Amino acid sequence: MVAIALKGVEKSFGEHTPVLRNIDLDIGENEFCVFLGPSGCGKSTLLRIIAGLEDATSGDVHIGGRIVNAVPPSKRGVAMVFQSYALFPHMTVEQNLGFGLKLAGVSVDEIARKVNGAAKILQLEPLLKRKPVALSGGQRQRVSIGRAIVREPGVFLFDEPLSNLDTMLRGQTRVEIAKLHRQFARASTVYVTHDQVEAMTLGDKIVLLRAGKDAECFGSIAQVGSPLDLYHRPNSRFVAEFIGSPKMNILDGSVMAINDEGASVKLERTNEIVSASVDGASLKVGQPVQFGIRPEHFADVSSLSSANEENGHTVHRDTQVFLRNVTLVERLGEHSYVHVEDRDQTIIIAKQAGDTNYKVGAPIALHFHSKSCHLFTADGRAVPKR
Ligand code: ADP
Ligand code: MG
Repeated sequence: MVAIALKGVEKSFGEHTPVLRNIDLDIGENEFCVFLGPSGCGKSTLLRIIAGLEDATSGDVHIGGRIVNAVPPSKRGVAMVFQSYALFPHMTVEQNLGFGLKLAGVSVDEIARKVNGAAKILQLEPLLKRKPVALSGGQRQRVSIGRAIVREPGVFLFDEPLSNLDTMLRGQTRVEIAKLHRQFARASTVYVTHDQVEAMTLGDKIVLLRAGKDAECFGSIAQVGSPLDLYHRPNSRFVAEFIGSPKMNILDGSVMAINDEGASVKLERTNEIVSASVDGASLKVGQPVQFGIRPEHFADVSSLSSANEENGHTVHRDTQVFLRNVTLVERLGEHSYVHVEDRDQTIIIAKQAGDTNYKVGAPIALHFHSKSCHLFTADGRAVPKR
């Protein structure tokens, strides 16, 4: 069932600041939906429109099957968790958790029951009598999540809740939020972040938003899909480069030939011919295109040579190769990013094994499969994959 529907939602701050364009979106019951996009693209604004903290300039917001445009935030059945925690400093954890319920006229017994329930879920029981000043950042964020839980909302709204936490706590709290979402079987979650790792790991569905001219011309939503949809089948260069780290390598070229297998492309700087498994029906020979391949889709040469020999037979694999020289090796332990340089200083990054022993200046053969390759037309649209 659809829990939240946004229909034709637009938002401008004054006449000259359009922010959100043409938002049509359904969020299902118990769905974990992530709004992802660069800073300033309007993620928080869209979340605030759902919460009722901001009015849309046009369009309708539906929650639980009714239009809520004129319904105040407190009556929408939503609870919001902010990046800044927004706790009352003079109140204890217990009082912070119960304050909203007290305002709503809930009985003392009922408040105690709900506060204790939330404290148990979030392991805040030993901290109930403390004030926020005596809590760590992670504990404060748990209190602010607890304040949302006690309201038993139909929709949880999170705006970058992990941004103020250090790396380790961010990972832990991310897992807690994922578990929490599963615990509240009927509630939907909308979660705003600019961090693609949070989006990929938490989201059932990612809504990737964009800003600027493309947003104005084509709408603010660049693509909606599951994390792996966006990873494997980005609909545009923008999505392809936003998802994945390091980002997809993009090389200029032009279409050489189109056949049943896909399209072959001549790369502009090196004149190499490469092929991509795309549906080439919309392409024309000679058309300028951009060729994309992710760093992790270059095979490690050492593992490739052993994989090619199975039981003494050479196994045929559809692989292509870039022959280059290494210009930089970034070692992360688990893996290494090997940089190679094209003629006019375009860098190609290949993700290789952590113990790779490439040295700067050494030749390298980067093998790749046409199935892992993407093509984009000059206007940034992806040519559909086969
Ligand atoms: P995000 O959360 O994606 O970083 P925001 O939703 O906060 O982006 O902001 C989107 C754009 O709207 C930004 O350019 C921001 O400057 C602008 N904006 C946000 N709130 C207001 C406001 N109250 N008045 C004018 N402009 C605003
Ligand atoms: Mg924001």
